[in-house]
Amino acid sequence: MLAATYTQGGGFAIHEVPRPELADDELLLRITATSICGTDVKIVHHGHRKLRDGQQIVLGHEFVGVIERVGARVTGFGAGQRIGIAPNAGCGRCQACIRGKANYCPDYTAFGIDRDGGHAAWVAVPGCFITQGNIVELPDEVSDTEAALLEPFSCVVNGVRSSRIELGDVVVIYGAGPIGLMHVMLCRAAGAGRLIVVDVRADRLEQARELGCDVTLNPHEDDVVARVKRATAGAGADVVITACPAAEVQAEGVRLLAPFGRLCLFGGLPKSAPHVPLDTNAIHYGSLMVTGTTGGAVDDYRIALRLVAGKRVALSRVISNVFPLADLRAAYDTALAGAEGKVVLVAGS
Ligand SMILES: [Zn+2]
Ligand SMILES: [Zn+2]
Repeated sequence: MLAATYTQGGGFAIHEVPRPELADDELLLRITATSICGTDVKIVHHGHRKLRDGQQIVLGHEFVGVIERVGARVTGFGAGQRIGIAPNAGCGRCQACIRGKANYCPDYTAFGIDRDGGHAAWVAVPGCFITQGNIVELPDEVSDTEAALLEPFSCVVNGVRSSRIELGDVVVIYGAGPIGLMHVMLCRAAGAGRLIVVDVRADRLEQARELGCDVTLNPHEDDVVARVKRATAGAGADVVITACPAAEVQAEGVRLLAPFGRLCLFGGLPKSAPHVPLDTNAIHYGSLMVTGTTGGAVDDYRIALRLVAGKRVALSRVISNVFPLADLRAAYDTALAGAEGKVVLVAGS
């Protein structure tokens, strides 16, 4: 089968690899839709700390498919079921796993990182994903392409839950890429009263407005702190979410908040990023809360599915390119060149 692979020390390739073997506790999934994540692009450029030298993996953790076959010891699932998968399985024993948050497990297993992923026609799903609740059957009202985006959206669900948005809150979102736009849709669905989006690109701000944001700001043209204060009659925002990997907005975010405001550092920074000076007195005197999130847990994935199935968000709005699965090369070329939105691959019928 054709697959997009990464070999530690050997780099990225699109080539034929053997179809996965199926162990007794595994199920074999025929991929119907899969999308390319920033993490895949990051691995192509920089590799991954979890990979051994010379180790090759099939990339891709955002995928859905139809079960082709189940191993002899698998119960509860059968051929023909259409499923999505929360792509991180934990060790099952650590504090994070016991709390149901495998995305914070220090010893997690993840598709497309240390297990063969879904940028191919087939993937074998290991037993730990089956027994830890990572697999959900997809209802008919969720399309394959939308379902492929459930994983990144589950990360957004995690971020928004941690931000503790309350009805009527003023929310500022830094970054209007696909993840920022998912935040816009979800904060709106969560009852935010006013949404302010900050980005340097006019086309992305336009998209944010189309998805229901009230005020857009471009830091090249606008004084963001002054504009947010003005838009809130001097009070400041209740929640600030940084959906971009920029050090300067993390520090600025604290300065935007009203008393009791919450800052969620959603986007991580590259290791080379400068140290971020935070105004700790603003946090102290304003009783501010600073949090951060990474990935999504099994429950975030299931919440994400309910929100998509209930049409509370339209994930298809953040897709910019759709390719047939056979066109892995063109899809990766587009993603590596910096696509506008999400790049999705779909299997032919
Ligand atoms: Zn992802
Ligand atoms: Zn664990």
